[in-house]
Amino acid sequence: MSILLNDLDFFALDDLLSSEEKMTRETVKQFVDREVLPGIEGHFARETFASELVPRMAELGMFGANLKGYGCAGMNNVAYGLIMQELEAGDSGLRSFASVQSALSMYAIYAFGSEQQKQRYLPEMACGKLIGCFGLTEPDHGSDPGGMETRARRDGRGWILNGTKRWITNGTIANVAIVWAKVDEGVTGFLVDKGTPGFSAHDIKGKFSMRASITSELVLEDVHLDDSARLPEARGLKAPLACLTQARYGIAWGAIGAARTCYRCALEYAKSRKQFSRPLAGYQLVQNKLVRMMTEITKAQMVCLRLGRLKDEGRARPEHVSFAKRNNVSEALDVARAARDILGANGIVNEYPVIRHMLNLETVNTYEGTYDIHTLILGRDITGQSAFE
Ligand SMILES: Cc1cc2nc3c(=O)[nH]c(=O)nc-3n(C[C@H](O)[C@H](O)[C@H](O)COP(=O)(O)OP(=O)(O)OC[C@H]3O[C@@H](n4cnc5c(N)ncnc54)[C@H](O)[C@@H]3O)c2cc1C
Repeated sequence: MSILLNDLDFFALDDLLSSEEKMTRETVKQFVDREVLPGIEGHFARETFASELVPRMAELGMFGANLKGYGCAGMNNVAYGLIMQELEAGDSGLRSFASVQSALSMYAIYAFGSEQQKQRYLPEMACGKLIGCFGLTEPDHGSDPGGMETRARRDGRGWILNGTKRWITNGTIANVAIVWAKVDEGVTGFLVDKGTPGFSAHDIKGKFSMRASITSELVLEDVHLDDSARLPEARGLKAPLACLTQARYGIAWGAIGAARTCYRCALEYAKSRKQFSRPLAGYQLVQNKLVRMMTEITKAQMVCLRLGRLKDEGRARPEHVSFAKRNNVSEALDVARAARDILGANGIVNEYPVIRHMLNLETVNTYEGTYDIHTLILGRDITGQSAFE
């Protein structure tokens, strides 16, 4: 099903976008319509990632799109957000791939790496030849990454790493893993290349969500690394958290895309499906659902656009990003559930994209800080009292 561009711009927010930003959005939208949608249900059904799309995504400048230099496109943050929105209108798994490559892996190297590491990894990651993953979560530490058990201990001039990371997007297809580990001074990051002895990755199967995205476990058993593999500027937990802020920003935009696909599908369905004497769209209860969906998507668009402009001015705080991620993803999930309801029995089959988006959004609501963790971050911000460490 093709999604009409600008079909949901109730407050004429397009007027606030530059022609470059609109062009970027249109380019990605066309890519999604022509190259992603035809195959995505198949990938979701088979639990496979559409790796054939990676070279095209690179060609379109999607990897590290808002980073400058090193072969990156150097776009502003609104254009970057619009890319994420259009990718996730296709599938949250595809957007996850781009987020992990750009905002978690490339950004970690860009912000905390040595010049030598940046030269070695970033240009190849921008052109999609090197894939990255970001290993922070562990089997026993998700919302509290500070409790991580992965350790790096000094070994002469190098390091020995031991630990397990779980729920890692792109884990088995990554050429380089950003692994966060504890050292005597606190948390720091390491670049672990695929094939390093003692390092292995395997996929987590049986997911009902994000089936078109690779999710893996990383195991590090006495992995010897040279000191040149350590990210020299990554000092403390604030380093991985800064990467998460970048990724959450893109996720806030992405959720709008998934919600828009569901809304559009439900609206069309409600207009054409007749029950009793008239189309579903003619009943007040259904209109109430559609209006609520449209209202929440419109509000999410406004939040993101303002956030993107603040980010471009260097005024966006992590709490702004928490607000946007928490609100937009949770509302997108509600929109998807309402759309599934409006489609009735057809809402559970893959002839329509709604159930896939709905299932994906369950993950999006959990990862990158759960809804409740962002509530606590905002609660701390407005009260000055931390309800968690
Ligand atoms: C498909 C997928 C891909 C992922 N990709 C990555 C990746 O690439 N890299 C990576 O590092 N991680 C990744 N993750 C992991 C993700 O970030 C974690 O799942 C997330 O941080 C939540 O951690 P958890 O699952 O351990 O849940 P928990 O932390 O155990 O939380 C469970 C529940 O308890 C609540 N809770 C926790 N603490 C509190 C508290 N103090 N007060 C109130 N409620 C609380 C949470 O809100 C949640 O509802 C991915 C996860 C999924 C599902």
